[in-house]
Amino acid sequence: MKVTVDRNAGFCWGVVRTIDIAEEEMKSGEPLSSLGPIIHNPMEIERLKAEGLETIALEDFGQLRGKRVLIRAHGEPPSTYANARRLGITLIDATCPVVTKVQERIRKFYDNGYQIVIFGKKDHAEVIGLVGHTNGEAVVIKSVAEIDTVAQGKKTVLFSQTTMDKATFYEIAGELRKRIQDFVVGTFEESAIDFHAKDTICGQVSGRDKKLREFAAANDVMVFVAGRNSSNGKVLYGICREANPRSHFIEHPGEIQARWFSDAKTVGISGATSTPQWLMERVKEAIEQSAV
Ligand code: SF4
Repeated sequence: MKVTVDRNAGFCWGVVRTIDIAEEEMKSGEPLSSLGPIIHNPMEIERLKAEGLETIALEDFGQLRGKRVLIRAHGEPPSTYANARRLGITLIDATCPVVTKVQERIRKFYDNGYQIVIFGKKDHAEVIGLVGHTNGEAVVIKSVAEIDTVAQGKKTVLFSQTTMDKATFYEIAGELRKRIQDFVVGTFEESAIDFHAKDTICGQVSGRDKKLREFAAANDVMVFVAGRNSSNGKVLYGICREANPRSHFIEHPGEIQARWFSDAKTVGISGATSTPQWLMERVKEAIEQSAV
């Protein structure tokens, strides 16, 4: 049985950068806490914890007066920066530059009076940060079914959380455009109501679809490794399963079941943008051992 790790899988550069910043900062030996899990991967969190990175929740922020806190790749709302200033907390800002750019663009449209619609998940850290740049006013939707929550008759711009899927984004954009145009037809407005759709899905995620599909289809069985709360992991696993119904989702090597590989000649291993390379290698070893 041939077991191969997908060479296109693993950390995106934004996550690599965040971890590099954390590891560099820890060299000083001073305590460092990450505001929320640094990435959606429990195994990597454990590894960094051993190096000295604590994970704290937003509720614990107040107890860190004078300490150093890392802002992870997802970014934070402006209120976090204001609270840190008030509490004398030193922020190590490791927000992914792609996310920072989306925050800035949203802010610009918001300041120009646009209704901001975000295609994303309400409780996702990145989305909480983005919504914060609109004073909490952005409308967050995750499917066409929720489109009724978007007000018509207002100039509107649609953005996306960086890890969502493109097909749904364009479906929502098409439907919103249609509704806004329908609305204009039914009124006495002289000019059409402004609608923009900004595809802010990260290329590090969307570019992987095609390659993952090919890789999954080329193997008899697929094992997809990611944290269960990784948004990008869920999207990529969905693609993997579509291309190969014999796909299995695992978080760590202990979940591997030898029966998955009966009759398989080739097994592929892939993962999310938050899945470390070392973990996929460990899964590879475990699969090879299970076949002995
Ligand atoms: S997926 Fe893209 S936006 Fe998200 S952390 Fe990676 S590089 Fe940044």
